[in-house]
Amino acid sequence: MRICFFGTSSAIPSAGNGYTSFVVELAGRVVLVDTGDNALSRMLDLKIDPTQFDAIVLTHEHADHLGSFPALIAALECMNRSKALTIILPPTLTPRVLKLLALFDYYPERLGFELSFASEWAVSGGTDTSRGGARVELLPGNHSEFTMMTRFIAEDGALLYTSDIRYRSGQYAAPARGCDAMIHEATYSSLTLPAETRHSSALEAGRAA
Ligand SMILES: [Zn+2]
Repeated sequence: MRICFFGTSSAIPSAGNGYTSFVVELAGRVVLVDTGDNALSRMLDLKIDPTQFDAIVLTHEHADHLGSFPALIAALECMNRSKALTIILPPTLTPRVLKLLALFDYYPERLGFELSFASEWAVSGGTDTSRGGARVELLPGNHSEFTMMTRFIAEDGALLYTSDIRYRSGQYAAPARGCDAMIHEATYSSLTLPAETRHSSALEAGRAA
C-alpha cells in the first residue's frame, strides 16, 4: 500500500498546502480520498492518469472535503474518461452529492462513464486480502452528521483515516484494530478544544494514536 498526500491543511489552506486529500494505492488500484481542492492537478503531478484511477472516498459534506467534486467530475468528462468510477461515501450523503452535481448540470446517467455509489468496496480477490484482495470500509465517525472514518485493508497493510473528528478517548481502538497506520485530521494547534468545535487538536491526535 502506498499513500501520497495532496494537502494536509484543514479549512484554511496555507501557501503550497491545500485542503486535506490524498491517494492510496492498494492491490494495484488507486483511490482518491476527499476532493476539497484541485485533486486532478496533483494527480497529474504524480503521473496518475485521471482517466484510469478507480474510486473516490468522500468522508463528509464539508466544503474543504467535498467542494471540488463537481469540478473533478466535469474535468473527467472533458477528458473523455470511459472507465467506471466508484464513489465510496456514507449512503446518507449520496443525495447531497447528486444535488451538487445537478447544480452544474451533471447527472450520473448522462456521463460518458459509469458513476456508481457504494458504502464499501472490494477489489481483486474480493475481501480475501491473503489472495491479493483489498477492501475499503466506512466506519462511524464523530464530527458532522455524515462523517465516516475510512479503513483501507490490503495484503501488505491496513490504514485508518479518521477524517475530521471530535476527540473522544477510546473511540479509535476498535476501528484501528489491525491497522499499521492512522491518519488523524487534527485541526487546531491548541492543546485541547471545546467539544463544540467538533475537531481535535494535535495533542489529541497523539493521544488517539
Ligand atoms: Zn469537516
